[in-house]
Amino acid sequence: CFVALEGGDGSGKTTQATLLAEWLRERGHEVVVTREPGGTATGRELREVLLNHRGEEQPLSPRAEALLFAADRAQHVAEVVRPGLDRGAVVLTDRYVDSSLAYQGAGRDLPAAEVETLSTWATQGLLPDLTVVLDVDPATAARRRAGRAADDRMEAESQAFHARVREQFLLLAARDPARYLVLDASTSPEVVQQRLREHLAPRLPS
Ligand code: C5P
Ligand code: MG
Repeated sequence: CFVALEGGDGSGKTTQATLLAEWLRERGHEVVVTREPGGTATGRELREVLLNHRGEEQPLSPRAEALLFAADRAQHVAEVVRPGLDRGAVVLTDRYVDSSLAYQGAGRDLPAAEVETLSTWATQGLLPDLTVVLDVDPATAARRRAGRAADDRMEAESQAFHARVREQFLLLAARDPARYLVLDASTSPEVVQQRLREHLAPRLPS
């Protein structure tokens, strides 16, 4: 079973992944908790490049950025996601294809269909069984991020950028409602987690 957690910066993906893994392990599942970018050793090098680029004189071109995220994803699928699924584990990823459609597509204004083709190529078409969108308005998310360490390249981005990213996640969810769960992530982490567990319980392998 493959589950992706998606949503803007500060929407609580990492917290939800940790809580969900705890619950799944109590129920006897093998769980792989992983993330993009940076779910593999190669991916961590790419993450460094992506996140530290802000200090450079020339901004990373949107296409170079999209290719680096796609390279991270290709390695992640080959090294972590596929093998985990093949041995029957539940794989929980903090970000996946939809993040590229939202950030590189809507955010950086690259053609959505091209970003999607690139991701499909990188993953060989592997899609999650369930994608959870943690939806939170950009202002609330910015307040949450204010307290955290700066491995975050998004502080430099405008409210409009974050609004486009949010809209894109919601659009993707609306396009394929059977494969998505949208949760209001402005409530407490416990409430969000409870809803997530209720939704997932009947969908898990026994
Ligand atoms: O989710 P995480 O904090 O690990 O992501 C690192 C940074 O990369 C975040 O600022 C996130 O918004 C950004 N990102 C991106 N495009 C992606 C995935 C993440 O711009 N496809
Ligand atoms: Mg972050």
